[in-house]
Amino acid sequence: MTTIQHWINGSLAQGAATATQPVFNPATGAEQARVVLGGSADVDAAVQAAGRAFETWSESSLTQRTQVMFAFRRLLLDHEEELGRIISAEHGKTVDDARGEITRGREVVEFACGLGDVLKGSFSDQVSRGVDVHDFRQPLGVVAGITPFNFPAMVPLWMHPIAIATGNTFILKPSERDPSAANFVAGLYQKAGLPDGVFNVIHGGKDAVDAILTHPGIEAVSFVGSTPIAKYVHETATSHGKRVQALGGAKNHAVVLPDADLEFTANHITAGAYGSAGERCMAVSVAVAVGDAADALVAVLQRKALKVEVGPGDRPGTDMGPLVTKAAQERVEKAVGTAGAQGATIVVDGRGLKIDGHEDGFFTGPSLLDHVTTQMDAYREELFGPVLAVVRTETLDQAIDVINANPYGNGTALFTASGEAARRFQRKVKVGMIGINVPVPVPMSYYSFGGWKDSLIGDSPIHGPEGTRFYTRPKVVTTRWPQPAQQVTAGFDFPTSN
Ligand code: NAD
Repeated sequence: MTTIQHWINGSLAQGAATATQPVFNPATGAEQARVVLGGSADVDAAVQAAGRAFETWSESSLTQRTQVMFAFRRLLLDHEEELGRIISAEHGKTVDDARGEITRGREVVEFACGLGDVLKGSFSDQVSRGVDVHDFRQPLGVVAGITPFNFPAMVPLWMHPIAIATGNTFILKPSERDPSAANFVAGLYQKAGLPDGVFNVIHGGKDAVDAILTHPGIEAVSFVGSTPIAKYVHETATSHGKRVQALGGAKNHAVVLPDADLEFTANHITAGAYGSAGERCMAVSVAVAVGDAADALVAVLQRKALKVEVGPGDRPGTDMGPLVTKAAQERVEKAVGTAGAQGATIVVDGRGLKIDGHEDGFFTGPSLLDHVTTQMDAYREELFGPVLAVVRTETLDQAIDVINANPYGNGTALFTASGEAARRFQRKVKVGMIGINVPVPVPMSYYSFGGWKDSLIGDSPIHGPEGTRFYTRPKVVTTRWPQPAQQVTAGFDFPTSN
């Protein structure tokens, strides 16, 4: 049985902590490895290594840093299939879906390759006679990322390429449920020429997280995961003087107007709801059917849900793999039952699905619930599984009210043929990322990713321009070079420019 170890200062390390936890193959239900659970001594070892590496890495040129990113990008492309299979075997998603997350993560590396342009400072000539002002940004130091299980490659890639290219050194604490992708990426960075200690991986759970949040040698923490933990991370790390970006959970609504193309809309909502078994922070978990769109929409969604091919993620033709753990499978199936008991119509029931040859896998089929109200648990809770709830409203404005009353505000979509409706929708919804006839509107890497309300704690979205700002701090320099013969007088009053 393999033991997945930390990656500190360019090599694998067992670390000081002795506890381990099983890592499962969700498609078979079998334990396939164990992962070490680090503690404060391991985090400290990583901080020491990253702190030493920062002294030289932060002094390297921007060109040297971006050259590493170009090489890293090439390696991510060359190893996409291999990394995709590693992710699929621990997460359960299909290999193609895993390759998709690697591609979207690689786009952040591409953004980091062009950081020279983003990092350009500004210069103001002659703000006062003989005085100029310019600004520039410098890295923070050792920074850390704490990431969820659902995108073991992409979510860390939202963080470390920008942190590293701006001159910081990085400690990643990936999810303990699918930890192998992080070590694989560490190996690619090393092959790309990244100096030892610039990128480190500490595995573990709460102990490792707490050690990161309180370590005085860590300047900033990026977190992506569920809202309760995002709040905890934000509160704990800010109270220890750190800069924090903390992205939380989601409940994403797709609103369907009667003028929407039904086949197109249902295809996209089905893929957005059941892709990756609904384990995406941008998954469509609620379809809001407006007016007389509802009956026809539910009929087409039912037909499409029944056609979703469920199976192991490495089997060609599979649309949707298992859930990540047995506990997740049980939680989702219980929620479907509760929805029925609370008055929802279970149009498609995914519970109790068995896949031939994979009877112990953590599978559940797609479920479709109709006549869901905003009081029901299936609406109020983030189920994070392949369950689509249909809520009915009379008007678009009522649909917007439903979305705005929800505590989450990550993503939302509108399906319509009306430009006026689309404009009204995007201006009125209190949500950070909006799709118009696009079900999963994940912004490109050169924009920033982040929700509103309980989907983002604090004020910093991730990657893109906001990511660059997060991992650097500005200096503003006011300069005067007096001519040798110039008579310079210094006034005692507060200086003004003239
Ligand atoms: P999670 O919150 O359970 O775990 C996230 C990280 O926090 C992991 O590294 C985990 O080890 C750590 N952690 C868990 N419990 C902790 C505790 N009590 N104290 C300290 N650290 C703890 O999330 P998850 O189940 O891995 O991922 C799914 C969640 O992430 C969903 O809520 C999903 O919406 C969210 N998510 C959000 C985004 C986004 O961009 N907003 C993206 C992906 C996932």
